Amino acid sequence: MFLAKSGKGADKMGALLRDREVKKEYVARVKGEFPLGDIVCEEPLLTVAPKVALNRVKPSGKPAKTAFKRISYDGETSIVRCRPFTGRTHQIRVHLQYLGHPIANDPLYSNEWVWGPELGKNGAGDDEIIAERLGHIGRSRPAGTWINPVIDESDFKGEMLTGTKCEVCETDLFSDPSANDLDLWLHALTYSANDKSWSYATPFPEWALEPNRQYMELALEEAKKCEGTETAFSVGALLVKDGEILSTGYSRELPGNTHAEQCALEKYYEKTGTREIPEGTVIYTTMEPCSERLSGNLPCTDRILDTNIQTVFVGVLEPDTFVANNVGKQKLTDAGIHYIHIPGYEKACLAAATKKP
Ligand SMILES: [Zn+2]
Repeated sequence: MFLAKSGKGADKMGALLRDREVKKEYVARVKGEFPLGDIVCEEPLLTVAPKVALNRVKPSGKPAKTAFKRISYDGETSIVRCRPFTGRTHQIRVHLQYLGHPIANDPLYSNEWVWGPELGKNGAGDDEIIAERLGHIGRSRPAGTWINPVIDESDFKGEMLTGTKCEVCETDLFSDPSANDLDLWLHALTYSANDKSWSYATPFPEWALEPNRQYMELALEEAKKCEGTETAFSVGALLVKDGEILSTGYSRELPGNTHAEQCALEKYYEKTGTREIPEGTVIYTTMEPCSERLSGNLPCTDRILDTNIQTVFVGVLEPDTFVANNVGKQKLTDAGIHYIHIPGYEKACLAAATKKP
């Protein structure tokens, strides 16, 4: 939520929002393997049943447009960056559902009992049946979601009518909510004015980081394999596609003054006899990839930009010890690469990096 500190400020921000001069970006965690590349959904949206907050893609609806780009896929769910260009009710949720990848814990748009096994992909499902079933959720049935389904009565937990009333005021009493009632894997990541006069960013939520932590921990294990030196950092890196580890690397693993990212890439090229990294591969590195090398070798940032890699997860930014002002992060971000810091490993990454011989 934004609060202006003055009336003037509120007017200015309100006008920017109204004129769609504010760029918004969200992150969502969705069912299944979200497609690669720039995906744009421009299906019109209509509020079909306001009582149960049901919105759907309908030719008679209002124009809507959302752009999506996958960040990572763990074999079960995908982390997706979402950019809405219009502001319809539930726009991101409904467009993701229409594409066949509803938010994995969305109690409204990823409930199989309500939508059937296709979960409303391509607009499947009868409006009246869906609205009628949604009317039961939170009353005679608890909310169910794709990631946390409610199949039969043995799964019945979460908010629903208990059939009892408050002794004092006679209001209907509900049971306690479950995870399906309390959280939605959709988060506003950045807001920025198109004229670049201001921007605001929030950290990645834990549910978007959690599927990636195991790989950062493995990258850290790689970093620990390095032979310490006084003249360079010790870093670990991992190439992962669809939850499968393609290659690993650590500083000076290959002969010469080699870097972790470089070793992971070169080992993969060597193994496959190609110079191609498959689309959808992401890289985990314990330290921000270098943008300049004193040795004159190709910096890791450039090596990454030469591949299909679209997402870089890092454990810690590079300290200024050897090269002042590493601009690896800036260079990658400017090229449209998702650059994501996974918090919690800074100390361990730095300790591994500065191990003495
Ligand atoms: Zn490097």
